[in-house]
Amino acid sequence: MLPESVLNRAAAEMLDYKGTGQSVMEMSHRSKAYEPIIFGAQQLFKEVLNVPDNYKIIFAQGGASTQFAAIPLNFMNGSGKADYVLSGQFSTKAYKEAQKYGDVKAVASSKEQNFTCIPELNKADFTPDADYFYICQNNTIYGTRFTELPDTGNVPLIADVSSCFLSEPMDVSKYGVVYGGAQKNVAPAGLTVIIAREDLLGNARDYTPTMLDYKTLADNDSMYNTPPCWSIYMCGLVLEWIKNIGGLEAMKLHNEKKAAILYDFIDNSKMFNNPVKKSDRSMMNVTFVTESDELNAKFVKEAAEAGFVNLKGHRSVGGMRASIYNAMPIEGVEKLVDFMGKFEKNN
Ligand SMILES: *Cc1c(COP(=O)(O)O)cnc(C)c1O
Repeated sequence: MLPESVLNRAAAEMLDYKGTGQSVMEMSHRSKAYEPIIFGAQQLFKEVLNVPDNYKIIFAQGGASTQFAAIPLNFMNGSGKADYVLSGQFSTKAYKEAQKYGDVKAVASSKEQNFTCIPELNKADFTPDADYFYICQNNTIYGTRFTELPDTGNVPLIADVSSCFLSEPMDVSKYGVVYGGAQKNVAPAGLTVIIAREDLLGNARDYTPTMLDYKTLADNDSMYNTPPCWSIYMCGLVLEWIKNIGGLEAMKLHNEKKAAILYDFIDNSKMFNNPVKKSDRSMMNVTFVTESDELNAKFVKEAAEAGFVNLKGHRSVGGMRASIYNAMPIEGVEKLVDFMGKFEKNN
């Protein structure tokens, strides 16, 4: 979801952006009109997320999946080793992609628990001379998240935050790199945001495609080539919206409230069950199941008829998943819980 006020603003500015006689979609990225849009969005990102001065904010394309290759190409540049935590499908994909480039170790995995928890980490398993340590912070499909970051010492921590970006405050200084596809919580599809500590840039492997070298992108203010102009504009509007509602502290309270309503209902239900280890529950993606696939399918169908769409779980796990990203209002969750209660009574 995107905030309704953001969509309204975009609609109002669609045909004539601030008297320029053109839509943002039609602008040259090198024009005077566009410059404040991209630099403004970057500045707002820095301000809202409280990004330290020694980090670069890069607007790229290719989605999170492209970064699965870009990360080893840019950062696996010392020992050629890296540690990965396998906590779901996206970290497993990232791990497999990185194996093409170096000596990659899965230091922990929750695959045997069907990824219903974040695996236990044992520091003794970490590679002391790894070039980086990789996690997927919020596991979109399974509805789990790291509530505590691993202590990786001097090894830079790299996190895929695609599905929890801007959902709460984050201490960027604890990471070497955080990145995410924007389409879950930040902007429409087409934009990938990478925040990288400056001293880690500039050592990409020599065969790294120019467009995947983060240094190239950073040195050219994310305009080495044509950036996703429209999505960057939308990202700026979303950041303004977050700022206006009180920043990420307020965003966090809003998101905690929503998640609590849903989890409380599920915990008290005799029909619905959340399969995730309690301490690892995601604040953004709430998964739930009934006792049978038939009943799950019936729920998804009737929910859609009642206007609750996108509740079907990921095709790899089945069941249901409510993605309650930033823009989902509290009333949206209250109405869902109300519907679930009625469904339980009737079935
Ligand atoms: C959706 C998602 C991805 C994949 O993102 P794309 O931008 O489609 O490549 C990767 N990681 C996480 C955590 C996601 O939620």
